Amino acid sequence: MDMNIEEIVKQVLVELGGTPKNGTAVNTASASAVKALPATAKVAMLTSLGHFDVKEYPIPEVGDDDVLVKVEGCGVCGTDAHEFKRDPFSLIPVALGHEGTGEIVKMGKNVTKDSAGKPLNIGDKVVTCMIFKDDPDITMFDLNKQNVGGADVYGLLPDDDIHLNGWFSDYILVRGGSTIFNVSDLDLDSRILIEPCAVLVHAVERAKTTGILRFNSRVVVQGCGPIGLICIAVLKTLGIQNIVAVDGEQKRLDFAKEMGASAAVNFKDHKGIEALTGAVKDAFGGYLADFAFQCTGSPVAHANIYKFIRNGGGLCELGFFINGGDATINPHFDICSKEITTVGSWVYTLRDYATTFDFLKGAKAIGLPMSKLITHKYPLNQINEALETNLKMEGLKIAIVNE
Ligand SMILES: [Zn+2]
Repeated sequence: MDMNIEEIVKQVLVELGGTPKNGTAVNTASASAVKALPATAKVAMLTSLGHFDVKEYPIPEVGDDDVLVKVEGCGVCGTDAHEFKRDPFSLIPVALGHEGTGEIVKMGKNVTKDSAGKPLNIGDKVVTCMIFKDDPDITMFDLNKQNVGGADVYGLLPDDDIHLNGWFSDYILVRGGSTIFNVSDLDLDSRILIEPCAVLVHAVERAKTTGILRFNSRVVVQGCGPIGLICIAVLKTLGIQNIVAVDGEQKRLDFAKEMGASAAVNFKDHKGIEALTGAVKDAFGGYLADFAFQCTGSPVAHANIYKFIRNGGGLCELGFFINGGDATINPHFDICSKEITTVGSWVYTLRDYATTFDFLKGAKAIGLPMSKLITHKYPLNQINEALETNLKMEGLKIAIVNE
């Protein structure tokens, strides 16, 4: 922002025939450095089931390895909704929000680079990923390292005397030892979508390990919530053209087509699995799918999806982020006799997370309407309403956006 103002001021001065003198135009560096910080920060604290209190806490000292970030926005995740409703992780009181992004306003003297080695400066836009514990297997640049599932992240930490631990706030203190990425080249909506998109970059990487997912594959994506829709976008960005979306809601199927699906099948229009399989086959011009992505949390949907896949095809199951119960399949017909290769996918690796920044640029470049995934934006003081909207399953991605 300051940069733009500076450029505009210079431009105006040049047009007026004058030359900008030092100190006339807004100086980016000093303007950022002297931005006065408030004494307190607002933090949405989940204090009881179904209720956040927006509390004020003093902005703490920024240590030599720490980064203070002014929060611009944060997506509401299914995990937040579970915490809000039932506190399954026994975290209350907790500062939630892990899909957040904002601008660096203060940093310790030891901080010069982000986790990928990119320079970090005041004014840069950043996101965080997991917080390093002493686990050498979770590293940045080895493709085969494990996913970050179970690792600590801001927004799912027990409360402490700093309190600025979640992204549903107006300031967050990112402490030394956390992963932080400079994503100044992405717009706010894209930055809010990084975390959910990383889940799909990882799922597609898992799918590729089967050797079945190829440029010319016929691919079924079952479930057109945010995860399924982003799945289609990732496949489309990879160049895969033949994608059939399956869901029970016409509005979501229409969006799936905007996102790049070549055809859509509404399961409510087809009674019974045989009729539904027939519809999927028709949508591929008389063929079953080479590969399928299962993006719903429904055990019945898991059981159904095998029918859509050809002999020798592949399946990536990524819908069950949490335990959704048991599914009944027929191992003979569904897996053995068809020789189907299945992979599971859960969260992402740090490498996938960083790859997602490029995915979002690619998706934008080919005109995919990623911003439309964010259907509701609420200010921080309406966080309870935001979570209620999420629980009602209205819209797609709900986000808190600070003014
Ligand atoms: Zn999430």
